[in-house]
Amino acid sequence: MRLDVLTIFPEYLAALDVSLVGKAVKSGLLDIRLHDLRDWTHDRHRTVDDTPYGGGAGMVMRPEPWGEALDAVAPPDSPSQPRLIVPTPAGRPFTQELAYELAAEPWLAFACGRYEGIDARVASYAAERMRVDEVSIGDYVLNGGEVAVLVMVEAVARLLPGVIGNPESLAEESHSGDGLLEYPVYTKPPTWRGYDVPEVLLSGNHRLIAEWHHDESVRRTAERRPDLLAAWGDAVAGKDDPASEVRLLPAT
Ligand code: SAM
Repeated sequence: MRLDVLTIFPEYLAALDVSLVGKAVKSGLLDIRLHDLRDWTHDRHRTVDDTPYGGGAGMVMRPEPWGEALDAVAPPDSPSQPRLIVPTPAGRPFTQELAYELAAEPWLAFACGRYEGIDARVASYAAERMRVDEVSIGDYVLNGGEVAVLVMVEAVARLLPGVIGNPESLAEESHSGDGLLEYPVYTKPPTWRGYDVPEVLLSGNHRLIAEWHHDESVRRTAERRPDLLAAWGDAVAGKDDPASEVRLLPAT
């Protein structure tokens, strides 16, 4: 998969050299290209922003460097175009489902905003030849799109075949598979500072362990994310398979 990131702070993306994403780059699974937006400015100060039309606080990113940068990274006459992701707190929410969708793309480009964001005409211009998604990583405001890109690239990259050592681990995770949160996990030693690992996990009984995992997932989801539990309940109730009946925990 090819990833182009357009930003005024390419150094912010240095973290992409580390850990599993870094390994994926080294092994050739990911081709990450960082671009400094200021390379497409033409004044002495390499200006990328200006005051907003209509007034208001802050500065807005000018469209000209963005247009030139997009044209250089993905020439308009080329039949192959990336899917462009524009991080913005005003975008559609980034979810695990969208991460899976993006992981199926051969080429993604990210346009990192700063200041009050990018002149809205840039997204319209790009949408003439590529799919454009404005995406929010959560209901809060960051200073720039770089951290949002790190979040999205990490979530997408780990879904690519070959990036995670054991792909089975993806199926059981929170926000994947059944949509429930993952159950709590434990490792050795069995007792640590007075805290014991739940006995069933030491039993070797796979059926009981699977039941415990499921019940803990439901309990956690009910406690922390009742919205997700409701969606899961609806999905299970809608299935014809009687084996997939909702199995709720007894009240404690
Ligand atoms: N004026 C914008 C608004 O109120 O919607 C906020 C601009 S923010 C200070 C600057 C940049 O940070 C945005 O253009 C975007 O690239 C990035 N950003 C901030 N919060 C974000 C979020 N929750 N998700 C994705 N990107 C975000």
